[in-house]
Amino acid sequence: MLPVEFIERMRQQLGGEADLLFQSLEQQPVTSIRLNDKQDVLTFDCDIDEVPWQEDGYYLSERPVFTLDPLFHAGCYYVQEASSMFLQQALEQYVTRDAVVLDLCAAPGGKSTLLSQYLGQGGLLISNEVVRQRVFILSENIQKWGNGNTIVTHNSPAQFGEQCTNLFDCVVVDAPCSGEGMFRKDPQARDEWSPYAVQQCAERQRSILLDVWDALRPGGVLIYSTCTFNREENEENVQWIAECLGAEVLPLACDPEWGITEGQPGYHFYPHRAKGEGFYICALRKTPEDYAPFRPKLARSAGKQQAVNSDYIRIARTWLQHPENWAIRQSDRFLTAYPLHYRELIEWFSAHFTCVLLGFGLGEERGRTIAPQHSVSMLKDLRREAFPQVALSQEQALAYLRTEALMIDNMSVGLVLLTYENVPLGFAKNVGNRLNNLYPNEWRIRKL
Ligand code: SAM
Repeated sequence: MLPVEFIERMRQQLGGEADLLFQSLEQQPVTSIRLNDKQDVLTFDCDIDEVPWQEDGYYLSERPVFTLDPLFHAGCYYVQEASSMFLQQALEQYVTRDAVVLDLCAAPGGKSTLLSQYLGQGGLLISNEVVRQRVFILSENIQKWGNGNTIVTHNSPAQFGEQCTNLFDCVVVDAPCSGEGMFRKDPQARDEWSPYAVQQCAERQRSILLDVWDALRPGGVLIYSTCTFNREENEENVQWIAECLGAEVLPLACDPEWGITEGQPGYHFYPHRAKGEGFYICALRKTPEDYAPFRPKLARSAGKQQAVNSDYIRIARTWLQHPENWAIRQSDRFLTAYPLHYRELIEWFSAHFTCVLLGFGLGEERGRTIAPQHSVSMLKDLRREAFPQVALSQEQALAYLRTEALMIDNMSVGLVLLTYENVPLGFAKNVGNRLNNLYPNEWRIRKL
């Protein structure tokens, strides 16, 4: 049952069309995925249709058990709501691929993995999540995506506003909201909805926007989105940003066939018109004015780094296709690599923010040598030939992902890269009579 006050409000907003919306909210949700560019084939056993506004997006006619697909765990695709993928259009129209972007409310990582792919090796993504329990799944999804161009942070919007003045070319605020667009996917969203919750969400969204605003450079682009329909959390907040914070609303080109509804301002995705769940998005440009660009200044003491063992660097560089693109740092027993081009800025973040992931984990000291960390196996820049490779069947791959012991005949002794359908899944170590499973325990499949 839809909440009665929600029905009344939507009738006011949509008139006679509201009944079509209510009917669509009683139907099954749509399943869609976005393909990682590390993979170019779709292996689903059902009908597949293209998401019209996102080249890498596909609708699936049935919802597979994703947990049973090793390619899901290898980060070959992200199960993402189709409407949300429209972020790509805003990026293509207003954000260059060498931008420094903040995804402020990022977990579990749908928009961040899209941003990471969009920026590729040219830009830098700071992917932030303020709720602690949600940071780890974000970091996992970013590592599986494999670009190495992302820093995952766990900070508040105010910390960005206060410490990163004029830093970001683009800030994405995919705000926590009342979730009306998720009513058919998530029954809890219906139960928790009330006019009071809408008002609370709208206030919290303004506070988040106000807190982070100084971090966006003048002339930079704010992309604001929610998964709700009401005007308070959408149009009214956008108008407030434009008038009170100082920004110009930017038009987004849409093909009329996509079924997207123009808001006043912004763009609504109503499930009875556009195939996907409910969503709202608006892009704004911060009013240009003279400003002092952000310069990362490191205190001398903060800039001091542990010396990196040169033998380890030499070994670790052989694991990468383009070692020249990465800066390597050592902290205790661990080596981390991140884009060399953004060295100063990344070191600054490492000194001033709570960073859960800096680029990717490169290696770990074991005995008197260095062994690759799991995220190397997920990396697009991995040089696969650096390791003996062993192809697994689906059954073996799932056993590996459950961190079970594996027995495989005729394998070289030492570290091996395990693959499934020619995609790396992770490492294992053949110690002669058995294969030590090195899949991260915290990522393992717990239930099938
Ligand atoms: N962008 C994500 C994606 O595409 O996968 C979904 C983000 S979800 C709509 C909103 C996120 O905001 C949640 O992860 C939530 O933990 C976070 N959040 C909640 N309260 C917040 C606050 N006060 N400031 C910033 N983020 C908050």
